[in-house]
Amino acid sequence: MYEWSDEHLMLQQAMRDFVAKEILPIKEELEHGDLPPYDVLRKLYSTFGMDEMARSTFAKRIAHEKAVAAGEPVEEKPSRHGGGDAGYTLIPIIELCRHCPGMVTAMGVSVGLTASAIQAKGTIAQKERWVPELLTLEKVGAWAITEPNSGSDAFGSMLSTARRDGDEYVLNGSKTFITNGPYADTIVFIAKLDEGNDPKDRKVLSFVLDRGMPGLEQPKPLRKMGMHSSPTGELFLTDVRVGRDRLIGETEEVSKGGRDGAKATFQQERAGVAAMSLGIIEQCLELCVQYAKERVQFGQRIGDFQLIQQKLAKMEVARMNVQNLVFRTIELSRAGKSMTFAEASAMKLYSAQVATEVALEAVQLHGGNGYMAEFQVEQLARDAKVLQIYAGTDEIQTVAIARALLA
Ligand SMILES: Cc1cc2nc3c(=O)[nH]c(=O)nc-3n(C[C@H](O)[C@H](O)[C@H](O)COP(=O)(O)OP(=O)(O)OC[C@H]3O[C@@H](n4cnc5c(N)ncnc54)[C@H](O)[C@@H]3O)c2cc1C
Repeated sequence: MYEWSDEHLMLQQAMRDFVAKEILPIKEELEHGDLPPYDVLRKLYSTFGMDEMARSTFAKRIAHEKAVAAGEPVEEKPSRHGGGDAGYTLIPIIELCRHCPGMVTAMGVSVGLTASAIQAKGTIAQKERWVPELLTLEKVGAWAITEPNSGSDAFGSMLSTARRDGDEYVLNGSKTFITNGPYADTIVFIAKLDEGNDPKDRKVLSFVLDRGMPGLEQPKPLRKMGMHSSPTGELFLTDVRVGRDRLIGETEEVSKGGRDGAKATFQQERAGVAAMSLGIIEQCLELCVQYAKERVQFGQRIGDFQLIQQKLAKMEVARMNVQNLVFRTIELSRAGKSMTFAEASAMKLYSAQVATEVALEAVQLHGGNGYMAEFQVEQLARDAKVLQIYAGTDEIQTVAIARALLA
């Protein structure tokens, strides 16, 4: 694939119409007024039939899993994209990111991380219990691994614990920077099994929690630099009691529920960042081209200055490269393949870096106006920066790539 198909372009246009009609009129509240993004995201889902599509695709995949479990003859497992290709999932991400990348963060964590974590490693009963409402956004999901003292070293420094108590587990710990944390109905909480052994040797387990469980606190959102349409918060757990039915996979077998599950989630997260970056880059470039044609200094359009032309040319190179990475993701998924962990890291590293560079250069190209909130590049520059921090920092992606090369 080297360009969008006519069908993709139709979806792109429909998304642009939706954004103009439903999001831009409330953008101020989403970006500055603490309006949570969930209702407008639900509207997006219902308008485009994404909720119905998610429900029917989930039903087909579960029926397939049940048939496999019963030893019945089965055909190929239905794709997550419900017959279409990954482009139909990525175009809404790209289009939303032109205006409110935070909405994609909120949506991606709920659907992409929380639902996927349960879908990847949960039992059939767990999937049926939690996944459909997450996939349709009827329920908001959060995926919680980061702690005040454990970020990049997510597993090594993790202090959250799960202790066995009869047939139950008792969970304790605090998490921070959790997307959707303040509003989440369903939370995947990652902790170490405390058997009195050295924390370094403990198994990593994932549990599913519901809002309102005794001992679970979800304080109000934290203030931050950008991504304001994505609420971010802390979680505090004090002696939260859960049955084995909430342990993902219902097994302490690490290869099923623990580090592998979290690592698979990292990989998915990294691939999504390329599409987010593309939306930011496309929007910045369009705004810059327009501004370079209109703004006059020294008696000529600033677009006539070679230093401004260089900025535009570099933005176009970044746009083409990131778009090609997105196309590659779509092609791989069509072929039923996925990237290696190192490839996903490389794609995330590059996309996040160029999105931030482009957005900052867009501010520069707009001069003083670029620094003003009235001009959208100011917001996109603040939003883009976090792409280099969450889902694994630039430095951690670099380590993952180099490790794979040297292995
Ligand atoms: C807006 C936002 C939303 C988030 N959403 C979620 C979420 O939904 N769920 C969740 O669990 N987490 C979430 N996070 C947390 C995010 O994943 C972490 O912030 C990130 O992994 C970095 O961890 P840290 O902040 O503790 O930084 P640290 O790990 O303390 O890093 C500090 C600096 O040291 C560098 N560094 C660390 N280790 C190395 C190394 N080995 N080599 C070289 N340099 C290194 C880092 O790259 C960074 O520059 C979110 C964060 C933000 C900002």
